[in-house]
Amino acid sequence: MSVCQFHLQKLRKFIFSRPTSLHLNKTFASFSSPQTQLNRKAPIQNFFFKSNDKDGFIIQLCRENKFNEAIGILCQRKHLREAIEILEIADRPSAATYSALLQLCSQQRALTEGKRVHGHIKHSGFVPGILVSNRLLEMYCRCESFLDAQNLFEEMGERDLCSWNIMISGHAKSRLLKEARDLFDSMPERDNFSWTAMISGYVRDNKPKDALELYRVMQVHENFKCNKFTVSTSLSASAAIQSLSLGKEIHGHIMRTGLDSDAVVWSSLCDMYGKCGSIDEARHIFDKTSDRDVVSWTAMIDRYFEVGRKEEGFALFSDLLKSGIRPNEYTFSGVLNACADQTEEELGKQVHGYMTRIGFDPFSFAASALVHMYSKCGNIENAKKVFHGMPHPDLVSWTSLINGHAQNGQPYDALQLFESLLKSGTEPDHVTFVGVLSACTHAGLVEKGLEYFHSIKKKHRLTHTADHYACVIDLLSRSGRFKEAEDMINQMPMKPDKFLWASLLGGCRIHGNLELAKRAAEALFEIEPGNAATYVTLANICATAGKWDEVEKIRRSMDDRMVVKKPGLSWIEIKRKVHVFLVGDSSHPKSKEIHDFLGELSKRMKEEGYVPHTVYVLHDVEEEQKEQNLSYHSEKLAVAFGIIATPPGTPIKVFKNLRTCVDCHTAIKFISKIAERKIIVRDSHRFHYFEAGICSCKDYW
Ligand code: ZN
Ligand code: ZN
Repeated sequence: MSVCQFHLQKLRKFIFSRPTSLHLNKTFASFSSPQTQLNRKAPIQNFFFKSNDKDGFIIQLCRENKFNEAIGILCQRKHLREAIEILEIADRPSAATYSALLQLCSQQRALTEGKRVHGHIKHSGFVPGILVSNRLLEMYCRCESFLDAQNLFEEMGERDLCSWNIMISGHAKSRLLKEARDLFDSMPERDNFSWTAMISGYVRDNKPKDALELYRVMQVHENFKCNKFTVSTSLSASAAIQSLSLGKEIHGHIMRTGLDSDAVVWSSLCDMYGKCGSIDEARHIFDKTSDRDVVSWTAMIDRYFEVGRKEEGFALFSDLLKSGIRPNEYTFSGVLNACADQTEEELGKQVHGYMTRIGFDPFSFAASALVHMYSKCGNIENAKKVFHGMPHPDLVSWTSLINGHAQNGQPYDALQLFESLLKSGTEPDHVTFVGVLSACTHAGLVEKGLEYFHSIKKKHRLTHTADHYACVIDLLSRSGRFKEAEDMINQMPMKPDKFLWASLLGGCRIHGNLELAKRAAEALFEIEPGNAATYVTLANICATAGKWDEVEKIRRSMDDRMVVKKPGLSWIEIKRKVHVFLVGDSSHPKSKEIHDFLGELSKRMKEEGYVPHTVYVLHDVEEEQKEQNLSYHSEKLAVAFGIIATPPGTPIKVFKNLRTCVDCHTAIKFISKIAERKIIVRDSHRFHYFEAGICSCKDYW
């Protein structure tokens, strides 16, 4: 007796003998056969029924010989294995039963089970009609068992258009384009589906030219009316090769065939124009489309964000709100992500308010976009609030909040949250570890950081990314462990990137390691010769070591290579208006008051013990234009303006496009104490929270 037969016998015995708890009710009271009587005390078999058929309904159906119904229900419940077990004991299953089973096999890509069904058909003497045969074909194609599919296809007495289409799309989806094309060319007649399957096969296999050629054949040769799927597919082919002329040609067909009112077609057209760089053309189509739904609005808004035209994206979002169409979670997350990139916290808050009013789903990924936005904007309190309101935060939310804590000078909170993440059973990914490692860096936890770094591979079975290495090198070099840092660089599997070298260079500056600094700088000069920051940092290290001739050399090579420094910019938002300051800026209407106030502050700072960092001779060019007076750096101007423009006690929040310099950092610490204000500065690297003379970064940035 084979295992399978044995199993079957056990199943039969179970169904026909085992009284369930429901057995006591009337339906079952009448059911009794000699076999049942005999086996009533048979031990409970470990079948699925114990858990999957709690109400005993399936057993009841079997006992009533209603196998087709039992199988149908099991298929609906997606219990494939159990359905097949019933099939084995069923007599004369119907075509619908086979069809349902095969469909489920296709969905679950269950080849073994599918073959069992096929075997059953053969042995039971059932003559499969075209419907069941097509289902079989579909099953073999979905399971990528093309030899079986081919054999069956050849054996089939009767084939219809559907059989051909299944074979073509099956092969095309598995990138067997040649086989698909042979079938396509030899089929007696073709319909829309055949063309779409073949064209999209080419698109998927990154052969847009073949796709478009076929599209043209379809137009000319067959005089075929294209449908929305064919044109959408062809449009994405044009988008893929960024061929605007082809895209326009298809656009012409669309207009002639009246398909331009279809939302799917519209969105493909818009996509094509967007990807071919014609966003205004896309907008033009958008404005002309009559039945715009939330999908088309969202696509258009996102397209603006993609190409960096955020203002227009935000404006269109506000039009959407006015239009009365309800945005969906895709719309929200797109807008919130744009807010996060631009640290547009005010706008993000408004979106949040709107979402709350219309009642958003805390399960949705719009919620995780909120966590991401607040974390990116440095509003950890709100990020936490949204996060804790989520019943099951997803990995994006966990990671955003962990990174948020790390970036905002709360490394211990970041690490604690990471431990909770592990406890929750969610698996971290490589982005999560970037947050964890940078938290360790900010907290100066070298050993702990190394432990996490090694756990990435050993415990979590992820591969180390260049970012992970950059974080660890940062960690090691900040604490002066240069030997280990160098060893790690020599052993790492990939080429160190600019972030890694920049971290190493930063560490060398803290510890005055001129030797290694030179090596890091050389590597950086090679990767990005135009970055002024590298020259400036190296020059500062030389200056600190008293090597003035080297400083001069670096200065000259900057001139020789025509390295252009990015101008330093700081901005502050007051009453919904953004005020931007350049270094030494006197263009602001309140400029005189700002400079007067700074002069006053400067006096009081000196009384408190502030000493300008004159040792950094190249301080002024450190990522910022050279200028005479330290007190006119853009972030100082913005902070000073913030203090005079707001009532006492209001926190000040300033953004800067470059890294804040040592002198400004020290000065703002003093200012926070003298003016009794919380001052938040987000520079290109991180957030700094200044309060009562201390910064959250503990002077590590
Ligand atoms: Zn400065
Ligand atoms: Zn700081």
